Amino acid sequence: MDNITIERMNYLIKILDEASYNYYVLDDPKITDQEYDAYYRELETIERIHPEWVLDTSPTKKVGGEVIDEFKKIEHTIPMLSLGDVFNEDEIIEFLQRIENSGISSNYVCELKIDGLSVSLHYEKGILVRAATRGNGIIGEDITHNVKTIKSIPLKLKQPLDIEVRGEIYMSKDTLKKINEERIKKGEKPLQNPRNAAAGSIRQLDSKIAAKRNLDAFLYHLPNPEDYNIPTHHEALEFLKSLGFKTNPNNKIVKNINDVMAYIHEKGEIRKDLPYDIDGVVIKVDNIKDQQRLGYTARTPRWAIAYKFPAEEVLTKLNDIIFTVGRTGKITPNAILDPVQLMGSTISRATLHNEDYVINKGLMIHDTVSIRKAGDVIPEVVEAKIERRTGEEIPFKMITNCPICNTKLIKKEGQTDYFCPNTNCPARHIESFIHFTSRPAMNIDGLGERLMEDLYNFKFVSKIPDIYRLKDKKESLTKLEGYGEKSITNLLNAIETSKNNSLELLLFALGIKNVGKEKAKILAKTYKNMDNLSKATYDELVEIPDIGPIIAKNIVDFFTNEDNLKIIEELKDLDLNMEYLGEELNIKEDFQDKSFVLTGTLTKLSRDEAKALIENAGGKTVGSVSKKTYAVIVGASPGSKYEKAKELNIPIWTEEEFLEKINS
Ligand code: NAD
Repeated sequence: MDNITIERMNYLIKILDEASYNYYVLDDPKITDQEYDAYYRELETIERIHPEWVLDTSPTKKVGGEVIDEFKKIEHTIPMLSLGDVFNEDEIIEFLQRIENSGISSNYVCELKIDGLSVSLHYEKGILVRAATRGNGIIGEDITHNVKTIKSIPLKLKQPLDIEVRGEIYMSKDTLKKINEERIKKGEKPLQNPRNAAAGSIRQLDSKIAAKRNLDAFLYHLPNPEDYNIPTHHEALEFLKSLGFKTNPNNKIVKNINDVMAYIHEKGEIRKDLPYDIDGVVIKVDNIKDQQRLGYTARTPRWAIAYKFPAEEVLTKLNDIIFTVGRTGKITPNAILDPVQLMGSTISRATLHNEDYVINKGLMIHDTVSIRKAGDVIPEVVEAKIERRTGEEIPFKMITNCPICNTKLIKKEGQTDYFCPNTNCPARHIESFIHFTSRPAMNIDGLGERLMEDLYNFKFVSKIPDIYRLKDKKESLTKLEGYGEKSITNLLNAIETSKNNSLELLLFALGIKNVGKEKAKILAKTYKNMDNLSKATYDELVEIPDIGPIIAKNIVDFFTNEDNLKIIEELKDLDLNMEYLGEELNIKEDFQDKSFVLTGTLTKLSRDEAKALIENAGGKTVGSVSKKTYAVIVGASPGSKYEKAKELNIPIWTEEEFLEKINS
């Protein structure tokens, strides 16, 4: 952090105070919780570095809420505090270690952090007499009239006790959805989130509104457990349940950090299926005496912590919209974003698919936009935050010419995508790069079509040898959207490994016209290395069985083209193997000198792979079934060859039987 100044501190306090007012008093936040938490953390850091600057009125010194005058005020006999927040495993470990270091070896209770607002309930002789919001932690607002409308809060307890209990009032996801549908119909602004919806409903003077809002509550705290001889928090929860309160069924006693992490992971997974929103997990020391020893700060207990789930949606700036060209000439607009952290990765780009998509979303360059990960992987621009526009935004305009070759773009009637119609557009080279790296060619794992399009459009690769220079650009590559450090490391390793491929793979990869895998192998076997082959004459080539005049001409043409020779020279300089490495045959009795026929679709292997395995075991594959066929290998939906084999009584092997024999 570079701006550790008193001015910055005051600025942060101003923003946080304003945000708190909007959030707690108006129930209408103007910034996201993540933005609030980020400002708050920054303020905490400045205050840690400069304790002499800290103001008594700092947001870090007080519980966030405020009390509205319209409500009767209620003073909390025991302050209602907030919770310290943590955002990652290291901070949870730090919290647990701090507790262990103070000589405490209690269990912990993990609970869901319900996204609502806390409430204090007072019962006299078992009858609900008072309900209050947290307010500023010391003084809350009297909301008894509204709390009485919540069906799950008992008006009368199962025991006639004088007791205070605390918990969270919340609105279910379903209720929020229904209310918002109605509000939208009436042209009203939808409620932003269940927390503000619940708070807005409960802080109404007219209880008819709260009654309609279908609120609910989980109880999770007994401020005076010692009065009831309750030694642990989990027993306090049981006690609350026995009095008739609703406690959350996910509460769980755990022993150590592994259990805590497993709980967090598990609840993170089921979060979307819960009928109410949670924004994290609360971890509490179970033993009450230990809780008392640990005590409180002015704002939070020292015996509990809230782990907040990473945001699923974050805000960032749309800096630009740039256009990329795919291997088929398809034009795609892409959002260039201010880099932002989202669910463990840095997002700086998101596809905007096509012109209609951008127009439907009404995006403008320089908009603040919300981003989420669709299916947890691909970043997606959700919407522009219209309320944050400054007037500096620039309207989106679709391009009319190809960004690579400048040819006028076309759009077929009824279609959404624009295409560059120029078949010689350099972007079409992407196709040949994809072929070069594909499995039957150089077999570079992790370098598929989408990445190759990115590598081309973002100028990492403009000719084949550039693929082998990517290792010098590792840092910029990891910034490419959707490819983390790990996947780029794996990719670069796969690229390096492919340098050792035998000549036939490189020949096939280079895409000499009509030279498929089989012919590449014949050429590699015959000429042994690239130099020999490059000098081969047409007359020599046509002499080779299986190499006809057309292929011979194509080969000669290929090796007389200066551009191709340059690519081969560059690949040599980059240490690619140019030799035929021979075959390591693994002769098997069942296959040696025998001929096989393949029919139908194999599921575990491609046809080429099955053929290679047969050849490697000393056999060969032929196209039609005859008496000389040793066996017919049958995949799904076989053709007439299968019938013929049955007719001639030729052994029929399933794919599994074939694999068993070949691997024996
Ligand atoms: P908090 O929401 O981070 O955590 C404390 C609260 O968690 C408790 O008061 C209680 O109400 C609740 N809770 C839910 N389940 C619980 C459980 N099982 N056990 C104990 N408590 C449980 O703290 P806060 O002080 O209520 O609010 C601060 C947060 O509010 C900020 O971190 C920020 O995310 C948000 N906020 C946002 C804005 C904004 O403008 N967007 C402004 C102010 C605050």
